[in-house]
Formats: sequence, structure tokens, C-alpha cells
Amino acid sequence: MSVIAKNITKKFGKQKALDDVSFIIQPGEVVGLLGPNGAGKSTMMKIITCFLPASSGEVSVNNYDVIEESIQVRKKVGYLPENNPLYLDMYVKEYLGFIAGIYKIGKVRKERISNIIGLTGLELEQNKRIGALSKGYRQRVGLAQALLHNPDVLILDEPTSGLDPNQLLEIRNLIKKIGQEKTVLLSTHIMQEVEAICDRAIIIHNGKIVADDYTANLSGMVTNQDIITVEFNKKVKAEELEEIHGVKQVQSIKRNTWKITSDPEKDIRQDLFEFAVKRGMTVLSLNKQVQSLEEVFQSLTKK
Ligand code: ADP
Ligand code: MG
Repeated sequence: MSVIAKNITKKFGKQKALDDVSFIIQPGEVVGLLGPNGAGKSTMMKIITCFLPASSGEVSVNNYDVIEESIQVRKKVGYLPENNPLYLDMYVKEYLGFIAGIYKIGKVRKERISNIIGLTGLELEQNKRIGALSKGYRQRVGLAQALLHNPDVLILDEPTSGLDPNQLLEIRNLIKKIGQEKTVLLSTHIMQEVEAICDRAIIIHNGKIVADDYTANLSGMVTNQDIITVEFNKKVKAEELEEIHGVKQVQSIKRNTWKITSDPEKDIRQDLFEFAVKRGMTVLSLNKQVQSLEEVFQSLTKK
């Protein structure tokens, strides 16, 4: 198993930045740690990457304990910290050489650096000064740095923050590509990012996990009703619609158009068609509203 966090609590003075957080990330998963500012995302990532000890609880990476076996953990984990600290005066290739030295990458060093430069799309930039690069390309250098020692697990703290829409797309695509071969935990406060990149989201709020599920499942989490809009070609009465099994509430929104709230266990769309056919009517439009992950996130993380 890749990353196991068991009952992690982290206190700064009296404040609990993390409060009894537990989760498991399986090998190969791409998981989003989603939460508003101050939720505890960076703190959790620093604990996994051995930069900060937890106040209590245990974290292991590939069964190595982050405290007892931190050298082993560091070998397995690549980390892109928040705000991607880089040496702006170094040249891209020079910087990667420097990082390779830190990781004691020996003989394969040249080959590894050139592979990573290819993977992260830095071929044209490799001889440029990091300070001269755009934010998107600096982010690529940050990812290259995190990947250089060929870790199994990547921890990326807000990897797309501050990027323009094009750069954002490029970095997301790069992370998706990397995610095909690695286990990835990335943090973000952007719901669409999780929807775009991750298989699963762990939603964290005030240091506590408020949801942990596949992104596809999360969308249905807080809805306990379906909302269906239907337009007929003729008049119907509210009472007639209310008789359909599973219908909870009926509201007329414009001429011959109804907003129907119904039991999600019972998909009433088929019944609506049968209802129309029986009366010699036509269904002009039928639309089931799906709650977005963004709405789920907001409802889970409001105070
Ligand atoms: P996020 O990354 O989700 O925005 P952080 O993990 O950075 O959240 O912070 C979680 C909480 O812990 C915040 O309230 C923050 O102020 C606090 N915190 C983080 N680091 C420290 C620190 N070194 N000293 C004191 N408080 C801290
Ligand atoms: Mg943070």
C-alpha cells in the first residue's frame, strides 16, 4: 500500500491544524486533497514528506514509517512544495544536476536528467536561467525536480496555483500523464481540478476529513433528491403529476413546464414518458439536474 495515514493530529500551539485524519492511498491512484485555505492540506503533505512531524498518529509510505525510516520514505517520495521554491539564478539543466547530486543519482544521472527534461517538456528551456522562465515552465522544473529520483509517490502541493488558463491545462495534462505511472496526491482548492485530474477526492475542512470518495460518487453525496425539468406540449395539472410514484414535489415554472423533485432511488423519467403517452401528449424536453462537485464541496465545507 502506498500511503497510509492513521489518526494524524498536528497541533500548532493550541490550534489543531489536523485533527485525527486517516486515509489510505493505493498504488497507482491519483487523489486530490481538496479544501479551502487553512484546511490543513500543506501540513498533511509536509508530514508525508518528512518535513514536519505529526503531534500524534502514524504515516507510512510503501510500509516505511515517515519518522523511523525517513531515508527510505524520501527515496520513494517526490515532493513539489507549495509556491515551488527554486533557485532562480541557476540554469534548468544545472539545477537538475544539482538535485541529482543531492539524491546521489550516480551513473545514470545524465540519462535520467535528459529523460525527465523530455517528459516534462523542457527541451527548449534546459539551458535557460530558471528566473527567465514563465510560471508554467517553472512549474515544469518543479515537477522535473520531484520526479528526478524516480519516486513511486508524488506529493504535489497546489501544483497549478497562479497559472494562466493555458499553462493550467498543460500542467494538468502533464500531471495526468505522470499519474499513469505513479501514485499521486495533489492538493487544490479548485473543485474542477479534482474533477479533471483525480480518481478520488479527500475533502478536508478545519483539519478534518469531511468526505473521501471517488469523484464520480461525490457528486451524488449531498443530494437526496433528483430535480427534473419536463416540458409537455399540453396542459397538465399538478395533482396528476403528484400521483406518479416517487414524485415528492411539483412546481410549475413556465407554460407547460414543470420542475419535479423526486426520490433519487426511483428514476421517474420513464414514468413521465408513460404519463404523457397515456394522455396523448408529447414530452418536448426532459432534463435531470446533476449536482456539481463544486456544490458538494461548498455544502461540505461551509461553517
Ligand atoms: P492549507 O494548506 O490547507 O491552506 P495549512 O496546512 O497550510 O493549510 O494550514 C493549516 C492551519 O495550520 C492554518 O490555520 C495555518 O495557519 C496553521 N499553520 C500551518 N503551519 C503553521 C506553523 N508553522 N505555525 C503555526 N500555524 C501553522
Ligand atoms: Mg497550503
